[in-house]
Amino acid sequence: MPTRTKAFDTLLFRNNLSTWYTQHARKLPWRGIHNPYKTWVSEIMLQQTRVAAVIEHYHDFLTRFPTVTALAAASESDVLAAWSGLGYYRRARMMHKAAQFVAEHLDGIIPTTSTELRKLSGIGDYTCAAIASICYGESIAVVDGNVERVLLRITGRPEDTTSAGKAFIQQQAAALVPPRLIDDSTNAAGDHNQAMMELGATICLPRGPLCLQCPVYDLCITRGEHLTAPRGKARTLPAAYLLETRTRKHITEVLLEQRPAEASLMAGMYELPPLPADTVIGREPVLSLRHAITNTIYVVQIFESTDTTLRANIPASKTMLHWTSTAELAQLPLTGLARKVLQRLKIMSPRSQPQPLLEALNKS
Ligand code: SF4
Repeated sequence: MPTRTKAFDTLLFRNNLSTWYTQHARKLPWRGIHNPYKTWVSEIMLQQTRVAAVIEHYHDFLTRFPTVTALAAASESDVLAAWSGLGYYRRARMMHKAAQFVAEHLDGIIPTTSTELRKLSGIGDYTCAAIASICYGESIAVVDGNVERVLLRITGRPEDTTSAGKAFIQQQAAALVPPRLIDDSTNAAGDHNQAMMELGATICLPRGPLCLQCPVYDLCITRGEHLTAPRGKARTLPAAYLLETRTRKHITEVLLEQRPAEASLMAGMYELPPLPADTVIGREPVLSLRHAITNTIYVVQIFESTDTTLRANIPASKTMLHWTSTAELAQLPLTGLARKVLQRLKIMSPRSQPQPLLEALNKS
């Protein structure tokens, strides 16, 4: 590595990392699987989403859409419903589009090289490298936020968001990836990439890195003294929503609002109708909770209405409001917050599962 005064021992780095990863890697549902579709699903879900939240959704999503052709055959609404709670719904839409492309133009076969994978909708540099290395052993570096942090600290290079800074990280990461060996039954590149990400996620933490447990401590220039730029402080915002239910012919229904198709966030998804802050002054909420979306923490209050007083204050037009039976909620693309609230209020079961797809699709 160029910033060192003596030669960097790449082989020692790889060996130490590999030994540590074999002994300490977390057991995650998508580890040890060399199925490109499943890896694709997990990698897309893991972008900007906590591992715990992905674990909750990964199996359910694959049960509902077990193959790329099953995903391609689903409606967008069904895909968004299965994605509900993971946030960043654009990821689900793009993956759905890419699955349709694979089904229609590639005979349902996912490409095997990073270059071909990169051409699919929603697959960027990170995802194509992850799938190609983990599933096909391609010797290509995977760089996510965790890997970038590890490399900055190991080299002692200051954080740099310019293209030169990005190129430097990419270059360092590429230099560390093991080559593909002929007749090698192991997957050195895929394992190395996963080990680098694991190191950043569990040892080389953003704040308070656990340097004394680090397998590459001897090769690291900064050892916990790297100046990491402070992250933007989270802001807090209040948010109020209406909960209105009714019973018709023994069926309980809840009033939902569909977000506009042109909304920049969560377009077309369903939520409880938002209420202006001044309409709930002096009222007691039936539920209060906090909900984080990127750098904002929403302090959410839910207000129940037994008459139409509150409903009259909903800014949305009537065409956006829908009475939905509680039995249908699991089929709808609900926002993560709506899902959380309806589950907390026991209007929706925590394990509500969408109807399984037709058996024919499962076999495809
Ligand atoms: S020694 Fe510390 S700072 Fe360096 S890579 Fe390991 S955990 Fe990160």
